[in-house]
Amino acid sequence: MGSRNPKRKPLSRKEKREQEFNEIDNLEAKCEELSLKDREFVNFYELPLSSKTLKGLNSVHYLEMTEIQRKALPVALNGRDVLGAAKTGSGKTLAFLIPLIELLYRKKWTQFDGLGALVIAPTRELAVQIFEVLRAIGRQHSLSAGLVIGGKNVNIEQERISRMNILICTPGRLLQHMDQTVGFDCSNLQMLVLDEADRILDLGFEKTVNAIIENLPKQRQTLLFSATQTKSVKDLARLSLKNPAYVAVHEKSEYSTPQRLAQHYIICPLPQKLDYLFSFIKSHLKSKVLVFLSSCKQVRFVFETFCKMHPGVPLLHLHGKQKQTKRVEIFNKFSNMKCAYLFATDIAARGLDFPAVDWVIQVDAPEDAETYIHRVGRTARYEASGQGLLLLLPSEEEAMIDALKAKKVPIEKINVKSSKIISIQNQLQSLCFRDPEIKYLGQKAFKSYMRSVYLQKNKLIFKVDELPAEKYAESLGLPGTPKIKFIKKSETKNAIRQRPKQVSESERTTDEEDKHYQKLIDHEGDKIAIDSEDGDLLSLKRIDHELPDELEQKTSEPTSKRKLLKATSKKLWAKDSKKGQKLIYDDEGNPHQVYELQDEREFLAAGAPVVQKQAFVEKELTAMKNQDAIDKRIAKEKRRQKKLKYKAKLKAEMEAQELGPKTVLISPQSEDDEYQESQEEAVQLDKLDDIKSYGNKRNIESLQSDKATSDQEEYDGKQVRKDNKRAKILEVEEPETLEDHEKLALQLLNGF
Ligand code: ADP
Ligand code: MG
Repeated sequence: MGSRNPKRKPLSRKEKREQEFNEIDNLEAKCEELSLKDREFVNFYELPLSSKTLKGLNSVHYLEMTEIQRKALPVALNGRDVLGAAKTGSGKTLAFLIPLIELLYRKKWTQFDGLGALVIAPTRELAVQIFEVLRAIGRQHSLSAGLVIGGKNVNIEQERISRMNILICTPGRLLQHMDQTVGFDCSNLQMLVLDEADRILDLGFEKTVNAIIENLPKQRQTLLFSATQTKSVKDLARLSLKNPAYVAVHEKSEYSTPQRLAQHYIICPLPQKLDYLFSFIKSHLKSKVLVFLSSCKQVRFVFETFCKMHPGVPLLHLHGKQKQTKRVEIFNKFSNMKCAYLFATDIAARGLDFPAVDWVIQVDAPEDAETYIHRVGRTARYEASGQGLLLLLPSEEEAMIDALKAKKVPIEKINVKSSKIISIQNQLQSLCFRDPEIKYLGQKAFKSYMRSVYLQKNKLIFKVDELPAEKYAESLGLPGTPKIKFIKKSETKNAIRQRPKQVSESERTTDEEDKHYQKLIDHEGDKIAIDSEDGDLLSLKRIDHELPDELEQKTSEPTSKRKLLKATSKKLWAKDSKKGQKLIYDDEGNPHQVYELQDEREFLAAGAPVVQKQAFVEKELTAMKNQDAIDKRIAKEKRRQKKLKYKAKLKAEMEAQELGPKTVLISPQSEDDEYQESQEEAVQLDKLDDIKSYGNKRNIESLQSDKATSDQEEYDGKQVRKDNKRAKILEVEEPETLEDHEKLALQLLNGF
């Protein structure tokens, strides 16, 4: 009694290992006993979790479990497939990350075992966020984890990806690695997690996800989580789930949205939307607000114009056309701000956990009730409260409110006194007048809004022909109503077929938007065509004649400007009429047209028309094949040259650094990489955004890095994350490993 214990000798490595193996045996036995019918656990430490995980949880003050964690963790730790459904902000991330870490720990996973677990998230921001939670709670474990979200240098990722135990990815980039990265082997995968599972499994990601799943072993544990969970048998069959446990904690609750979330809607005519929004901002200057708009062009216009009107609160904007570094910067900025407005597209709708958002305003209606639930779920997270405000057009009210009520969303109508609404139309007009850039943005915003409404699936809610287009254009400050063209899918198909192949292909590969819109159209039945001058889809001229009359009158000019001009200008007519008259000269110097018609007698003498036709087709086919082969050879040679040049450059760099080949991690981004920037993912993330390219994104990173790289630091927005920066996540046990050498080399390179 009273005597202090003599200082304990630190355990030797062997003793530590033995202790760990004992713990693992113990955990294995306890996890096997767990079942759905178990008593309710309250705290994390009551579960059979490794001491390393418990330490990690403790370090970020996660002690008591949330409801979904209480229900899902025992089942997942027991090894069963889980379909987890719980409201937004209820702690689903830990419900899948803890079983993931624990499974690999119990399986004594080492760096030599390769990829053990895969988490797929629909957006890059969400993947980054999940990665940060993993870093926070997994810091005691000796597992390596990487973030694969596409964009930056695929070579750096390729270099490291095959050594990762856990990957957090977006679908597009993951598939790219599966296709291209030598040594990327998923055959040992133990667990697959889909966060926002219904989104990952929906049409937008269908092909990519199917291709990913094909590459994964069937013998694995699969966890699916979302606030709006899929129960589609077809989806679940795709994932080959085995007797999954359906864990839905709020299924029986009265409402599908968080309890502390107050939700209201107001009816607002389209031309007054921005007045309402501006007035709201002026009267809520001390709030943190997330504002959803339907497309990135809308977001840009509102952001740019509102900034110029200085409402008296910081404004930010987030959309899929921004470079990844910018997106991360804004994500962190908004996370850390107390009062600010973030204008965003639906890339911010799912999963993002911005702390302390007071309001979510949906200025443009969500495409469906699920999207509404996810958007509004950015506030009132965990135990916080929040408010949601939805702006609906008179034509949208009935069907949208019915859809929301059917999904158990408690939303109430409020009326706003018109005296409280400030009109900003004059200010917008003068901004458009003074600054052509703003006017241009306004025109783009107008068009993209009209298109987004036109492309919406639910025609009961979204009625493009009831929109007051002219008044709306006026309200944006535009001098006229921009023309837009809508065409039916069948018509577009014909039009595309009729176009010269070369042209349509070059346009298709140069423009991301094309793919994007085509995707939307696939399940839409209709198609949209856009002027080439906008850098948009296809430059099909004047194919809007199938438009509903009313809409045509409202939204398009009777004929294109070019045609009008042509009709009045003799010069243009003359120029145009000469087109296609390429002449060739015979030996006598007489001009002939290239395709001069033969005399009928000569033609018939040459043989039966069918035979002639056949011969002609065959001749042309052979010529085309030959040309194709030549083109391929040229392209191959070009690629070879490029590769050689690149290798020579790398070698020169290496020699200059006097370092071994492994140090060449910092390589310039090749053009190919830019093209490969997760095209599908880009298209799918942001349905109504026009995404052409992504900029720099974060590279894959390892939990094993002793020092946070500068890239990692970019993400350290939250308190928790700041702690991580300092923390050594893992000790490197054997300094002679590949990583250690690499790390050392990198440090040398960076002058550490
Ligand atoms: P969901 O995925 O269900 O929308 P998240 O996993 O993003 O929710 O968690 C929402 C918030 O709740 C996060 O800020 C997270 O830190 C917090 N949280 C989750 N689980 C716990 C817990 N057991 N104790 C305290 N806070 C928690
Ligand atoms: Mg989540």
